[in-house]
Amino acid sequence: MSARKNARWFWPGWMHRKHRRKAKIAQVRQRDGDKCWRCNHPMRFEGPPNCGKAATIEHLTPLCHGGTWALDNLVLCHPGCNKHLGTFPRERKERMRINRPASPGAGARDARPGCP
Ligand SMILES: [Zn+2]
Repeated sequence: MSARKNARWFWPGWMHRKHRRKAKIAQVRQRDGDKCWRCNHPMRFEGPPNCGKAATIEHLTPLCHGGTWALDNLVLCHPGCNKHLGTFPRERKERMRINRPASPGAGARDARPGCP
């Protein structure tokens, strides 16, 4: 008899979408801090996800434009800011940022590797 008779239903690499999103938010938060990428105001990480100051994942290069879930492509935004940024190309989103950090220390994340 074949040993493959009992196929596994459970995929070990699988995670619930909600948990995977939360894990990504935690990773980006560790890199960028608690401020919204667009408006530089603090976000709330506890509380309901539909709260206006909740943290949402924003793809700098939208998935529909070939963007990925790589950490380099992700930033955290308020739901409203996220909606405002929409699916514009990355260069345009960079221009749409308000209250950019002026101090050299806070702008460290702008020095991305691979950028000329
Ligand atoms: Zn914001």
